[in-house]
Parts: sequence; structure tokens; C-alpha cells
Amino acid sequence: MEENEKKLNFLEEIIEDDLRTGKVPSILTRFPPEPNGYLHLGHAKSLCINFGLAMKYGGKTNLRYDDTNPVKEDTEYVDAIKEDIKWLGFQWEKECYASDYFDQLYAWAEQLIERGLAYVDDQTQEEISKGRGTVDKPGLESPYRNRSVEENLRLFREMRDGKYADGEKVLRAKIDMAHPNMMMRDPLLYRIKHASHHRTGDKWCIYPMYDFTHGQCDSIEHITHSICTLEFDVHRPLYDWFIETLGIYPSHQYEFARLNLTYTLMSKRKLLELVQKGLVAGWDDPRMPTLCGVRRRGYTADALKMFCDKIGVSKRDQLMDIQLLEWCVRQDLNARANRYMVVQDPLKVKITNWPEGLVEWYDCPLNPAEPEGATRKVPFTGELWIERADFMEDAPNKFFRLKPDGEVRLKYTYIIKCEKVVKDAEGNIVELECSYDPTTKPGGGEWRSVKGTIHWVSCAHAKELELRNYDRLFTLADMSQVPEDKDYKDYLNPESLVMGRGLAEPALLDDASGIAVQFERTGYYVKDADSTPEKPVFNKTVSLKDSYKPE
Ligand code: ATP
Ligand code: MG
Repeated sequence: MEENEKKLNFLEEIIEDDLRTGKVPSILTRFPPEPNGYLHLGHAKSLCINFGLAMKYGGKTNLRYDDTNPVKEDTEYVDAIKEDIKWLGFQWEKECYASDYFDQLYAWAEQLIERGLAYVDDQTQEEISKGRGTVDKPGLESPYRNRSVEENLRLFREMRDGKYADGEKVLRAKIDMAHPNMMMRDPLLYRIKHASHHRTGDKWCIYPMYDFTHGQCDSIEHITHSICTLEFDVHRPLYDWFIETLGIYPSHQYEFARLNLTYTLMSKRKLLELVQKGLVAGWDDPRMPTLCGVRRRGYTADALKMFCDKIGVSKRDQLMDIQLLEWCVRQDLNARANRYMVVQDPLKVKITNWPEGLVEWYDCPLNPAEPEGATRKVPFTGELWIERADFMEDAPNKFFRLKPDGEVRLKYTYIIKCEKVVKDAEGNIVELECSYDPTTKPGGGEWRSVKGTIHWVSCAHAKELELRNYDRLFTLADMSQVPEDKDYKDYLNPESLVMGRGLAEPALLDDASGIAVQFERTGYYVKDADSTPEKPVFNKTVSLKDSYKPE
């Protein structure tokens, strides 16, 4: 196999087969979100698969809102979903709504009634579920199952016209109450819901069920490959039954494993609860696995796509390591992020032999991978901030940063030597007096090397930052394993946000890259929209290094 020739995944095999045999002339996929929440990393996987396959095989992808539950849905979500898809860099062919097809779906329901394949059931929700039977026990037929076509038509129209209250009646397909697949035991087609819909307003008080909607919408749009997550495989016979019975365009459903990630969860219901209870700052809190959350965290669209490519498409559910995603973010930012020096836990260094008032300005590369590329101006003076952790009074031999009588290189400039440690009355170190060696300036004089290099910021030029250091949202790796007597909220990480402070070189505030930057030697950070000119705010995207290596 060629190096760049990856083995086809099972969906690619199916599509290549369908194109080769002429089963379909070209492919059309769809992404079908329910507008009841914001998109999360799991949706990114689905988006990458649906749009990725269409792009690879010269096809197209529709965006279809699966908006059949008016109670939970909202235009806020409709708009946010579009923004997130565009951010990932995908362009849909048509923007569709299941609700666009309500008239057609209704007509098909009447058609099934007329053909004796659907009936109005007056049983309660509980009676219906009880009557379904179990996997090893056939269900019981409803006492209303053999109503006449005329009666069914009249009742169904009365349901539509608002004559009945929620839950009073439902429309069911008449299939087989003893079918080995429970989904086929007279599934519900319509329920009564007196609720305003975000698009159809009060036109309808009956709404079609998922199973009676999804396949037919696919068929109306001539979707060739309807790709969904594994839990829908038991729905497939029903999907096919409606299409075959109605004799409409034969879309086909295929299932792949949903994405689960360590230390987070992807249930919209639970994410909504975190937002509503104020346990996070909103859907776009940088700790959330939502696309708007990770975007605010500084994750890039390219990193997410790299991650989706690495995890591939499988037919078996698995828990992916969040470290792989973080690794992808690091890979992408390492190549692209601009570099700046920021000190987080400052210790003052006074350079005693530096000419009073002198400021040297250096042109430093924004990205070391492009030494001839763009630069930023960094000021150097006789008073600097360094990280407290870069100095040690009783240092072991292996400590190559600053120590009494020791030397260290200041990144981009001179070697300095620690001459004196200044302490306050309590014995705390408050300042270091150092000397600099004028012959050690890079590019000038003789090159002399020392083992350690540290970052620094000129005190007079330092800009103060608010730092929001984010960590994992939950403390439990596999959030599907929350014990019975516990709640998932018991596992919220109390240290998922640690506030900090930074002293930055001035060029940072003029950064116009629009993506996260690297604070040299510490991590990647991204400017937050909460920033003001007086107080810039930076969110921690990911640490600079990690021992993790992908397989
Ligand atoms: P939830 O159960 O959290 O509400 P959902 O599956 O109902 O999620 P939808 O808005 O219906 O969310 O999903 C839109 C598409 O994204 C569907 O095709 C769905 O299968 C897919 N999807 C949702 N979650 C994941 C996931 N974790 N991994 C992969 N695909 C997903
Ligand atoms: Mg859904």
C-alpha cells in the first residue's frame, strides 16, 4: 500500500461500490441536528463524516433540521448550529427543515390509513408500552386496532383539527404486534401536542414521530446515504418499511459508532442542565465540549478535523482519549501560533551593570519555524520579570536555570549571572541582583553557551493580563460509568477553572492572528471576548507539553 493511501473505511467501501455499480449516480448525504441545543464534539465527528464523504466523492450534503418536537426547539439553536458548521469550514447544499415536509407527511399518514395500514389508538401511553410486550414475549393488539378506515380518517382529521387534548389519541402504523423487532410492533406515527412550533407556529397540533419523519425526509431530498449513530440500527427495518410501503425514493440508512471522550460527556440534555443550573458560564464556556465552547477555548477547526480523521469511522462504540484531541490541538497550534513571552508568577531581576534608562528593542520571530518570517518587537531593560520557578536558592546539580552565582541565558538576548539574592524581613525572596555579560548578545561577539534558557518580560513594558486556566470539566474518565447512587454532577472538577495573572511583553496585545498564541515555555492561550483595553483576558487552550503520544 502506498504511504498516502489509507485503507477505506466501511462507509467508503459502500459508497465506492454504489458508484461503481451505478446504484447511485452521485452521493448526497445530510447532517440532521435537532435544534434543541448546541453542537458538540460528537456532532463534529458526524459533520466530518457526512461532509467529508460528500467532498471525497464529488457529492453534496444537506443541512436538515430535525424539528419535530416544538417544545424543546428554538431558533437560537438553529442559528448557532449554522455558525458552528461554517466555522468548521463546511458548506451545505440545501438548508432544509423536517417541518417543511409536514403537509407531505400528513398526506402519507392519510394514505396509510386509507390502505388499512394505520389506525387511531385511544390507549394511554402506559397501556401502549405495556401492550408492546417484551423481546421474548409478543405484544397484544390494541382494542382500537380494527377501526374502520372511515372512522380512522375522521378521528385523525379531528386530531389535526384540535379536537383532542395532548395524549388523548395517537396514530399508529398497523404492522405486526408479534414482530421480533419491537420497533415494528405498531409504532407511533403522530402524537398530539398543543404547542407553537418555531417555524410552523400554531398551524399544527399534531406532530410526526422521528421514525415517521426521518426516512421520508431523506427520501424527499433524494439522500443516497443516510448516516447515523449505532443506536439507530434497530430503527432501520422501520425506516425501510415506510419507504417501501409508500413506494418513494429508496434512501438507505447506515450506522457508525458515536464519539465518546474521556472526562467529558456529550448528552445535550445534561449539557443543557449544566447551563441552566449555572454550573458553567454558558453553552460557550471554554470547559464545555460544545463547538462554541472549544472554539472559545482556542481549539481550531483544523485540529478538530485532524482529530476526526485520526479516530476514523468504526462500527463499535469506544471511549476516545481526550489527550488525543489535545495532541491534535497542540500539533496544529505548534505549526501556526505566534509566540510571546508572558510571566505568570513574577520575580524581579535587577541588572546592576545595565546602563540606566537604556532600552534595547529586538526583532524576534513570531514563529521559530519561520526564522525569516514576521517578527515582533521585544523591549529589554535593566529591570525584568522572570518566573519564580526559574530561580532556586539551594539548587540541585541538575537545575540548569538561575541559581546563586549561576548563569542562565535570557531568551533572545544576554547571559546573566545571579550576584545577590535580596530578601524581606520574613526571609522571602523579593528580588535578584544580576549582572549581564555584554559579549553574549546573539549575533554579536563570541557565542558562549550555557545550559538553561528562560523567558522574561521588561517590567516597564509589561502588560497585565487576566488568565483563565481551564482544565477538564469532570474528574471521572469514563462518564458512562457514574455509579447508580451518584449523579454525573458529583464529578464536576472543582479545579476546572483556576484564575491567574500574567505579565506580558507588549506585542501580545497587538496580535492579529485571530487564533491562540503560544506563551513561550508554558502553553497556548487565546484572547477572550471578555477582554477590555484595561484588562485583556486570555483563556488557556492547552499546555505546551504532555508525555502523551498517539499510537
Ligand atoms: P443528544 O442525544 O445529545 O441530544 P442527538 O443524537 O439526539 O444527541 P442530534 O441533534 O439528533 O443529537 O444529532 C445530529 C446528528 O449528529 C445525528 O446524525 C447524530 O447521530 C449525530 N451525533 C450526535 N451525537 C453524536 C456523537 N456523540 N458522535 C457522533 N455523532 C453524533
Ligand atoms: Mg436526536
